[in-house]
Amino acid sequence: MKKYADALDDNGKQELIYFLQSRTKEMKAPVRVIDEIQEQKHKDGLVCPHCVSHSVVRFGKYVIQTRTGEINRQRYRCKSCSQTFNDLTNTPLQRTRRPHLWVRFIECMIEGFSLRKCAEILNDEISYVTLFYWRHKILSALKQIPIESFQGIVEMDETYFLYSEKGKRDITERKPRKRGGKAKYRGISNDQICVLVARDRQKMTYSGVLGRGRIRTSKLDEVISDHLSESNVLCTDSWRAFSSYARKKGLVHYRFKSDGKQRVKGVYHIQNVNNYHSRLKRWIDRFNGVATKYLQHYLAWFRYLDSKEYENTMSNKKSMLVTSCLFTVTFTNVGLRQCDVAI
Ligand SMILES: [Zn+2]
Repeated sequence: MKKYADALDDNGKQELIYFLQSRTKEMKAPVRVIDEIQEQKHKDGLVCPHCVSHSVVRFGKYVIQTRTGEINRQRYRCKSCSQTFNDLTNTPLQRTRRPHLWVRFIECMIEGFSLRKCAEILNDEISYVTLFYWRHKILSALKQIPIESFQGIVEMDETYFLYSEKGKRDITERKPRKRGGKAKYRGISNDQICVLVARDRQKMTYSGVLGRGRIRTSKLDEVISDHLSESNVLCTDSWRAFSSYARKKGLVHYRFKSDGKQRVKGVYHIQNVNNYHSRLKRWIDRFNGVATKYLQHYLAWFRYLDSKEYENTMSNKKSMLVTSCLFTVTFTNVGLRQCDVAI
């Protein structure tokens, strides 16, 4: 092999270097990701994940076996609660023995592949049932990415998803509806789940599940008020919950009727948020209906991908994996399946 490389001219050698780099990138990535997680996680110093004490010391190394051999990782001990931890404690990657597969799984998540397709891409090394938990561990972290205060004009609009108990085996309320299906009633009923999206012109986005049925002022107040101030200008459709909310908060408010006759008043409109809704609905369609109890996770997933413009680059993959490990994720597999959101 060396002989062959030697016989190449300069261009050929350069090409070979690029080729080898492109083939080894994936293998080197997990190690670099771990280093990045360590740095980001402890940027304010070492903190105990169990009791939040800063009184932490390094406590030897531990060894994990991976496909490429043994890896030594740092362990820490908290002097306050005496418990030990490592850089991945309470993260989606806790106790993983397959760091190299996570990078590829993240790639699949950026592409929005089904779990079966993910399993296929990972050469069936991991069952799609396990990948289901991997997916939700990542989403449970992404859900926690905080949003800052909105600036200037804020477009706000609600959209609805049909209530779904997809995946639940003993549905008592009524027969399961296959693949989305139709609501029992026309218009907005308790069969529909309200999702609010608010977005400013810097693209800062809130998207959250508000509950069953029509949007209510009190709920609006509860979820959005922390992010708004008197300096914001609201643009919404003409639903009365928005008007009463704006009045109550003393916010300047522009309303746009859903008949679409007047869609724009100068710089004021709700087209960005409406486009966001369309992208969201189109993207979520691929899952053939999402169980309502997981809807918030899918909203977080979409919000993240939309902010990264769906680009499956090495840097996006890395930052998605690193970001996911900066938040505490402690749910058990059983806990996730039983998870019941208050809807
Ligand atoms: Zn502690």
